[in-house]
Amino acid sequence: MEVRRHIEVSGIVQGVGFRPYVYRLATGRHLTGTICNTAAGVTIEVQGPCEAVQDFVDHLPTEAPALARITSLSVHEAACSGDRDFRIVHSLEGEEVRTLISPDVAICPECLRELFDPRDRRYGYPFINCTNCGPRFTIVRDIPYDRSSTSMAIFPICPTCRAEYEDPLNRRFHAQPNACWDCGPRVELWDKAGRRIECRDPITEAALGIHAGLVVAVKGLGGFHLAADATSAAAVFLLRERKHRVEKPFAVMVPDVDAVREICEVDETAQAGLESVQRPIVLLPKKTPTPIAEAVAPFNRYLGVFLPYTPLHHLLLREGGFKALVMTSGNLSEEPIAIDNREAVLRLDGLADYFLVHNRDILLRCDDSVVRIAGGVTRQLRRSRGFVPVPVFLKNEQTSVLAVGGELKNTICLTKGRHAFLSQHIGDLENVESYSFFHEAIDHLQRILEIQPGTIACDLHPDYFSTKWAQQQRNAHVVGVQHHHAHIASCMAENHLEGRVIGFALDGTGYGTDGHIWGGEVLVAGYRDFERAAHFEYVLLPGGAAAIREPWRMAASYLAHHFGRDFLNLDIPFVHQLDRPKTELLLRMMKQEINSPLTSSCGRLFDAVSALMGIRHQVNYEAQAAIELEMAILPSDDRTAYPMELVLEGEKWIVSTRTLFQALLEDLRRNVPIGVISRRFHNGLVEALARIANLLRETTGLNRICLSGGTFYNVYLSQQLESRLLAAGFEVFTHHEVPAGDGGLSLGQAVVAAASLGAESRH
Ligand SMILES: [Zn+2]
Ligand SMILES: [Zn+2]
Ligand SMILES: [Zn+2]
Repeated sequence: MEVRRHIEVSGIVQGVGFRPYVYRLATGRHLTGTICNTAAGVTIEVQGPCEAVQDFVDHLPTEAPALARITSLSVHEAACSGDRDFRIVHSLEGEEVRTLISPDVAICPECLRELFDPRDRRYGYPFINCTNCGPRFTIVRDIPYDRSSTSMAIFPICPTCRAEYEDPLNRRFHAQPNACWDCGPRVELWDKAGRRIECRDPITEAALGIHAGLVVAVKGLGGFHLAADATSAAAVFLLRERKHRVEKPFAVMVPDVDAVREICEVDETAQAGLESVQRPIVLLPKKTPTPIAEAVAPFNRYLGVFLPYTPLHHLLLREGGFKALVMTSGNLSEEPIAIDNREAVLRLDGLADYFLVHNRDILLRCDDSVVRIAGGVTRQLRRSRGFVPVPVFLKNEQTSVLAVGGELKNTICLTKGRHAFLSQHIGDLENVESYSFFHEAIDHLQRILEIQPGTIACDLHPDYFSTKWAQQQRNAHVVGVQHHHAHIASCMAENHLEGRVIGFALDGTGYGTDGHIWGGEVLVAGYRDFERAAHFEYVLLPGGAAAIREPWRMAASYLAHHFGRDFLNLDIPFVHQLDRPKTELLLRMMKQEINSPLTSSCGRLFDAVSALMGIRHQVNYEAQAAIELEMAILPSDDRTAYPMELVLEGEKWIVSTRTLFQALLEDLRRNVPIGVISRRFHNGLVEALARIANLLRETTGLNRICLSGGTFYNVYLSQQLESRLLAAGFEVFTHHEVPAGDGGLSLGQAVVAAASLGAESRH
């Protein structure tokens, strides 16, 4: 019996090869009907024998193209008609619809096979791509997304490529960057002055340079990398010296998962992450011994590893036979990544010996994404290339808002309907180049999404560049959102929570409503507002920003706070090693309250403990002291936890650190190993936070807990706290789609601002 079904599919189903996929699915079963793009997604009419149609419907979501994301699918009976075949139709309004732009995608297995197949017409072609793979977001100037509005516009397509482009059964149907040796972009090798080097094969030449210990700038998808041989200590040191990057870990690109297994522990989740189409940098536990130079990631048990994602990467790795290449952003420390050929030669002057460039322009920079896998769960540390501009799907429609994020690790967020579009990683706005990239990202996102919201959300910190920018916008309604409230709202939004939750917001720095620097916060929060239910006890931050760079100051601040000047008589290495004049100056500064704001920061507590234990007196990159403190933990069954007192002050619980420091000092005096002390410190925090959760459940009746803020990058703390809370019967929500740190802040700002407009949809 013939039946007909009307099927509506929404989500990311345009520009990802969905129509050709459905075409093949239908024609393969000899079904008739149509498919067309609509405002909401695609509409399919399919007709044929009952069983075949049912089989079609069953397979539709399961075999969808890698880049498609189906958010809803509805099937309705329809009256049969006289279709003779299955057609891709151009609906009237469908062609007008502005489709979502897909992110940049790693080369697919089919293209990779062709790349290394001597009989293929694209053999060795560094720009091979198809509908399932290749550049998207970074080559788009404007919408609608077709070749003329991308940086492929200057390459007239050849007849053979055009035939592929127009054939619905071809893998390259409507692949805008489709190209070949005859019609597409080409690679060149330049010297450090930007002069073209005559050679038979620029990629081979570049590989030889890397083998010789040189640094080669390689143009990737979202910007330049600086490449060096990761197994050569000399090459890595050279790169560190030139980049002015002392100890911050470098990521390495490794040919394939088997090669990764030789240097890191790889479980199933890690393998899936490494091989995913987004190809993020995945932080993995190092193996020892290892061929990787120690200087790649010193004092760190983890290594950031990623697989090649462009054909050029594959050719370079194979040509050079490299085990691993350091592939770090092509920039000086903290500046945005270079994208233009000439700009790269200027900005990377003195950093790179050669430039492996090409003539397909990168229109928008996009750094590599970074994820960490712990306990089989993937967490975003930096959500950028491969993920952007896929939106975070919200539970309800909301008024459009532009949220401009924080100051460090900035991202912005634009909401439209049920979609929250977060930008790529923008960086630290104190940096002039990053700040102009911030402007670019706002313009670009507003242009491709065709909205310019009347409401702008920003942080409460009056000195953040993002806040100042928001306040300069005329005709915009500006909503200031407290930093930690934004963290918790961000976690709520991606978990589709409504109502109120208990929120643990732990991080380094966020401007508080009392003008102090918050960072160890327990909130009872909804989207609209929050109460500060508990926080870590305030101490002085002697020297402001200097105290962040020099953790020994925080150790001195905590010790002076709890024990007065007497701490100078303690018989522990930390005190013996103190520079006496500097310390006296610091104590005077605190006594007179000069440049010493109050802080409840959790990050600074980690800094203090790290310094006190002799792990880190000064840091070379953000959160280094806390990271190395976590790395120091030794595996053991020791459940000892340093005690922390909870003191009720008015309506708020204060988490006192006095008993914690007393117990810690006692262990230091008894020469307890630092691996044990670090564990006991972490356990102490877990116990204190779990007790607060219980107290708040009693008074508020709330049973849902959100964990957010950069401190939750700490795997030990996150896992211990989560399992402790789950065991106590709480529902625990964490971040998966956006970073727990400040990279996810803009999402929270956006949903809080929308709620404050009274536009939050009904439950
Ligand atoms: Zn492909
Ligand atoms: Zn061609
Ligand atoms: Zn934060």
